[in-house]
Amino acid sequence: MRENELLQHIYAASRALPESVVIGPGDDMGALAIGGQTVLVTVDQVVDGVHVNTATTPIERVGRKAIVRNLSDVAAMAALPCGAVAAACLPSDFGAERARALFDAMRQTAERYGCPLIGGDVSVWGGKLLLTVTVFAEPAGVEPVLRSGAIINDGIYVTGELGGAWDEQGGGPHLDAEPRIALARTLAEDPAVGLHAMIDLSDGLATDLGHICERSGVGAVIDEAAIPCRRGGGAAAALSDGEDYELCFTAAGVVPESVDGVPIARIGHVVAANDGAPVVMRGKDGSAKPLAACGWEHRGE
Ligand SMILES: [Mg+2]
Repeated sequence: MRENELLQHIYAASRALPESVVIGPGDDMGALAIGGQTVLVTVDQVVDGVHVNTATTPIERVGRKAIVRNLSDVAAMAALPCGAVAAACLPSDFGAERARALFDAMRQTAERYGCPLIGGDVSVWGGKLLLTVTVFAEPAGVEPVLRSGAIINDGIYVTGELGGAWDEQGGGPHLDAEPRIALARTLAEDPAVGLHAMIDLSDGLATDLGHICERSGVGAVIDEAAIPCRRGGGAAAALSDGEDYELCFTAAGVVPESVDGVPIARIGHVVAANDGAPVVMRGKDGSAKPLAACGWEHRGE
């Protein structure tokens, strides 16, 4: 099963949703109208052996990552987190002290971002560690920024540095990612920026920018030389490694070069949709390469 095939099936089955659904499947968070308010929600998993390696990673950092993955989706909507619930399947030999350290790290990380952990569920099983976190968020005066808002001629931007988020032992920058919540709200609140569409970079720039193109019905041209690659890595790592938890967005106005010390790079612009790959990269040698999206069929097959 390829991720894209499954997603298309889910989107097709979600066309006739009730009016209370403000944002349906296909964005970084869904949203419901509840009591006259919009409540955004996202859910993400951390699976030992897929998203973390518990054999080499301190359990506190595993707990932190389980929360941050979700908060990065909150940032992608320019929303404010307001609470979380967590479910865990613990291996039978996990140990009580380790379990306490795991939950303390999840709770402390969530609280640091104004997102109290308000409930959850724990099972013990014969498999590996599996954490599932759900985060609720509110627009708090900013319209949620969707993947579908990109307009032709928008600039395309990314925050921070991309690629090489994993080292060979399973450590690396993916464990230290900072959800860009404050940065996203700064951009969304400034009308001069003209923020149109946004996504967080979890699956690699090629795939995630491809999602903006697909949802917005546009194409993208990016410049290889403009991609902010993490030290030692090239554009290929930035395009396909994933788990950067930075933001990719499109905007029509004036975008600052940094916000609170986080650099923002303009990497290209939005063009009309074409029949081929939605994202085309202009190489340093002047060539134009259509980029294939990767998604989890890369890792899963
Ligand atoms: Mg996301």
